[in-house]
Amino acid sequence: MNHPLLIIGAGLAGWQAVREFRKLDTTTPVTLVTADAGDFYAKPTLSNAFGQKRGPAQLVTTPAATIAQTLNVTLLSYTQVTAIDTAAQVVQTSTGPLAYRDLVLATGAQPIRVPLAGAAADQVLSVNSLADFGVFHQRLTALGEGARVAIMGAGLIGCEFANDLAGAGYAVAVVDPSDRPLAALLPPTASVQLQAALEGLSVQWHLGTTVQSVEPQAGALSLTLGNGQSIAADIVLSAIGLRADTALAQAAGIACERGIVVNRQLQTSAPHVWGLGDGAQYASAASPGAPTGRTLPYVMPIMAAAKVLAANLCGTEATLEFAAMPVAIKTPALPIVAHPPAPGHLGAWVEQTLGEWWFAPADAPERAHGFVLTGTHTSKRMALVKQMVAVV
Ligand SMILES: Cc1cc2nc3c(=O)[nH]c(=O)nc-3n(C[C@H](O)[C@H](O)[C@H](O)COP(=O)(O)OP(=O)(O)OC[C@H]3O[C@@H](n4cnc5c(N)ncnc54)[C@H](O)[C@@H]3O)c2cc1C
Repeated sequence: MNHPLLIIGAGLAGWQAVREFRKLDTTTPVTLVTADAGDFYAKPTLSNAFGQKRGPAQLVTTPAATIAQTLNVTLLSYTQVTAIDTAAQVVQTSTGPLAYRDLVLATGAQPIRVPLAGAAADQVLSVNSLADFGVFHQRLTALGEGARVAIMGAGLIGCEFANDLAGAGYAVAVVDPSDRPLAALLPPTASVQLQAALEGLSVQWHLGTTVQSVEPQAGALSLTLGNGQSIAADIVLSAIGLRADTALAQAAGIACERGIVVNRQLQTSAPHVWGLGDGAQYASAASPGAPTGRTLPYVMPIMAAAKVLAANLCGTEATLEFAAMPVAIKTPALPIVAHPPAPGHLGAWVEQTLGEWWFAPADAPERAHGFVLTGTHTSKRMALVKQMVAVV
């Protein structure tokens, strides 16, 4: 029996895996099962769509039926995979069982939710999919310009939404336990630049504290912060991070840590089961002190992983080697390119000039493992990528 290559997930990881596979093999049947509609969209556009006056429909670049036809894929949309039997090579879905030759887990990550007190705690939104964005967009546009948005989290997604929404005329407040925005990615002086740039768009910062409770108040919401302050908002957006979605794999006995553990061929611990994308934990090239692997919830790792996966699925052994993969942070008030050092690389941030920082060992400042560029310095991105000592 000619069982298909079965892919779970229609995010960038799932579709990119199919694209790369089809470049090498046009005949093997491929089935893609996904809990959502399956439309192709670039998830990074969710956090700069308001500024461009684009709603969820305008963000779809290729409708599900079109991409499925182009790539010769049997698409099962709105179908949830509920269990995997790795011995029998069968998955159970909300519409029945499916056998597979090989299975690719491209199931992504879920927003982290912190327990909050208050009668309106369940009204807190998060945006990690086109459907989530649809809900957020509808509520905010119904409220109209000037509506107050409280954002929990001053990380990449929180800062991008803060810039986008403030630029589009909403009144934005950001709450974060760190004393500065993007603390995990940027050296302190770069954070200060970003904080000032967003203040220029009237973003209000509530740093060094957290949201404790959300209560309804006079048709809106009242947030009580850990520092005792209260802020009023019409919408609360939680952007405090993502956690790889490992439940399905774990229940099937597939090794998971911070994500679904894959080796440098993208194989999981189960035969004929592979993984990539936000749900995967990639093996790290051994470097002293480095943990066994890391999640990399960004676009560029998916593009590299999909190529290697496709080759391995076609019987050509290929090994994942990540090149330097800087992340462009979509904060037009202060453009930023961040290339954080891989875990295990020792060193410190050294300011070359205001707008350019290198992460390098104290005894070898020329051997940089990471960099951050802001403002006009972002044009040096390619030159610095070439200069970086290989990471990951
Ligand atoms: C607002 C925002 C902005 C971003 N900006 C950037 C950026 O500027 N640069 C960058 O590099 N990265 C950015 N990222 C990260 C990047 O978009 C993600 O790394 C990438 O899109 C993840 O793709 P994925 O396919 O792994 O996961 P997802 O897109 O989450 O896809 C997972 C898929 O799996 C399906 N699924 C899950 N479980 C099941 C199941 N049991 N059964 C069936 N289907 C299932 C889901 O329906 C979905 O289709 C951003 C992320 C967000 C949220």
